[in-house]
Amino acid sequence: MHTRKIDFKGGYGEHGRNCFLITYGERGRYYMVDCGIMDEDSFPYPRLERKEVEKIDYLLLSHCHKDHSGALSYLFQLGFHGTIVTSAMTAKLLSLSYEKMILLDMNGPHRKKLSDELQVSFGRAGHCPGGLWFFVEDLQGTCFFSGDYQRDSLVYGCDCAERIQADIAVVDCAHCETQARAAKLRDHLTEQIAQYLQEKRKVILPVPAYGRGLELLYLLMQAFPDAGIYLDAAFLAYSKRMLQELVWYQPNAVEALRAKLGQKVPDLSECQILLLADTHLKKTENKQLVQEMIDAGAVLLITGRVKKGSFPQQLLRGKKAKRFLFPHHQSAGDFFDMMECNDFFVVYPFHNDRKEIFINGLQRGKTGAT
Ligand SMILES: [Zn+2]
Ligand SMILES: [Zn+2]
Repeated sequence: MHTRKIDFKGGYGEHGRNCFLITYGERGRYYMVDCGIMDEDSFPYPRLERKEVEKIDYLLLSHCHKDHSGALSYLFQLGFHGTIVTSAMTAKLLSLSYEKMILLDMNGPHRKKLSDELQVSFGRAGHCPGGLWFFVEDLQGTCFFSGDYQRDSLVYGCDCAERIQADIAVVDCAHCETQARAAKLRDHLTEQIAQYLQEKRKVILPVPAYGRGLELLYLLMQAFPDAGIYLDAAFLAYSKRMLQELVWYQPNAVEALRAKLGQKVPDLSECQILLLADTHLKKTENKQLVQEMIDAGAVLLITGRVKKGSFPQQLLRGKKAKRFLFPHHQSAGDFFDMMECNDFFVVYPFHNDRKEIFINGLQRGKTGAT
C-alpha cells in the first residue's frame, strides 16, 4: 500500500475555509474536496501553493456555502485547470460556468468513475439543496468526506452514510460542544420561542440564503400553526429558487413549504415571527428594522455562526440576542453515531476549533482550541 497523504488546507481546527487536499494514483497528483473561505480573516483563503494547485485533477465540491466553495476564484487565480465534480444544484446555486465540470446525476446510481484511477460514490447530506457527501476510491485506498451533514433534517433528504469502509474519514462535527441529537436541539429552540410568544415578544431569525431557513420555516409552521410568520423578499426569492429540484427534499415538507410560499405574506405588524435572509444582518434596512423591533421588546435568535464585528455579535454582547445550535450540522452525538455505523480507520472531525483524531475508534490526539 502506498503512503496516503491528506493535507488540510483549511477547515480542520477552525470553523470555515474547508479545503482538503489528497494525493492519489502513482504520479503525485491530487484531488481536492471543497475550497472555502474564512470570511472574517484578512487572508480568507485556503493555504494552497501554486505548484500544488497545478497538480489537482479534480475538485469535489460538497455544497454551495461560502466556507466550502467561496475560494473558487482564488483557486483559478492560482492556476487550477482540473475538473469540478459536484451536483447540478450546487453548480446552479453558485452560478458556476466552467468548461470542465462533471455534474453528478442524482437520479442514476450514486457512483461515478472519474478516471481509471478514481471513482466517487455520493449521497445527499441533508444539509442544504445540492449538498453531498463523497466516498472516493483510488489505487491508494478509500476516503470518506461527510460534507456538512445531518441525517435527521426535517426538510432535506439524506442518503444515510452507513456501512462504509474507509481508510480516512473527514466528518462534520460542528456542534462538538453537545451530544444532543437533532430533535432535542429543535425542541430546545421551539420551547424558547413559545416562551417569548407567550410574553408577547416578537422573534427575529436571520438565516442564510440557501440552507437552514427552509428548515426553520417548516419547523415554525409545525410548532406554531397559528403564528403570523413574516418572510422578507430575499427569503421568498431564494426559497422559490431552491424548491425547483424536488430530489433534495422530503416530499411532505416540499408540499407544505410550496403551499406556504404560495400564500400572501401577512403584514409585518401582524406577525410574531420574522425570517430574514440576511445571516449577518448586513443590509442597512434589516439592521434598522431589527433595532426598532428590539427597542420594542423583540428578541433576535441566532442559529448559525456569529461573525466577528457583525451586528448580531453586538446584540449578543448587549444581551438582546440569544444563540441556539440548529441541527443543520452534526453534534458530537451525531458524530459518534456516524462512527458506529461505519468502519472508518482514521477519522478527522472537522468544522470546529479542536484538532481531534480518532484512530480505529479511539481518540488519539487533541490539541484543543487553536
Ligand atoms: Zn454548509
Ligand atoms: Zn460548512
